[in-house]
Amino acid sequence: MSALSPAGAPDFSGRTILVVLAHPDDESLACGGTLARLADAGARIVLLCASRGEKGSVGDREPVAGDNLGAVRSDELREAAKVLGIAEVVLLDHPDGDLRWAEVPQFHVDIVLAVQRYKPDGVITFAEDGLYWHLDHIGVHERTYTAIRSFGPWAPPLYYVTIRRGLIQEIMDTAAANGLNVQGTPFNIEPDAFGDYAAAPGFLVDVHEWVPRKLAALRCHRSQVGPDSPFQHITDAQARGLLGVEQFRRSPLEAGWDSVIEQLGERVAS
Ligand SMILES: [Zn+2]
Repeated sequence: MSALSPAGAPDFSGRTILVVLAHPDDESLACGGTLARLADAGARIVLLCASRGEKGSVGDREPVAGDNLGAVRSDELREAAKVLGIAEVVLLDHPDGDLRWAEVPQFHVDIVLAVQRYKPDGVITFAEDGLYWHLDHIGVHERTYTAIRSFGPWAPPLYYVTIRRGLIQEIMDTAAANGLNVQGTPFNIEPDAFGDYAAAPGFLVDVHEWVPRKLAALRCHRSQVGPDSPFQHITDAQARGLLGVEQFRRSPLEAGWDSVIEQLGERVAS
């Protein structure tokens, strides 16, 4: 157990959490509440983002020149990271859209070196479902799993984040009830695809208090979450109800300890 601060809140100072994801915006959408909560508890959050998201769909009405999208999204990520309290963003330049196959040995080495450098107490990445079977996300899952496994008995505990099935549709319905004429779908993905293939979570993290920051961080990604995005048309109170719980599963890899991440979680009965 880690020490408790005088107010009874956990004190995770001195601990580092390494987060390995694919694109700018993954951090806010998948686990922004948990990252903000960990940062508030004193943990150092290091985000390894595999690409600059240069192939992402442009959600804003304002055009973003194709060549510029990677730079725009990198800036948006830095803004979102500030909101969430992420201490360090390491932006890798692997090719967006091709993360599962391109530069595999180099990406593996990037993750191994990050673990050696930051000595994380725990690592977070996507599960096998890649949130919605996104091949880039699945590639990041595969690289991270393999890299962490290569540490053998010294591997830090690895956690998979998933999205609750039905969540994105509920956000669209709420925005529609608030008067938004919903056009298309968030991120141009079928809403039911989110979480549809995810294995059951092992523990849930209550982030109700941190939802306004998660939402604010998500809205920093203006090129993805434009003015007509349902995420711009829900109130903080509605967002707390919808986004107040984030879900994780521990990877089957053996690790020598339990991360502080688990101290925030409510275990799900299996
Ligand atoms: Zn992504």
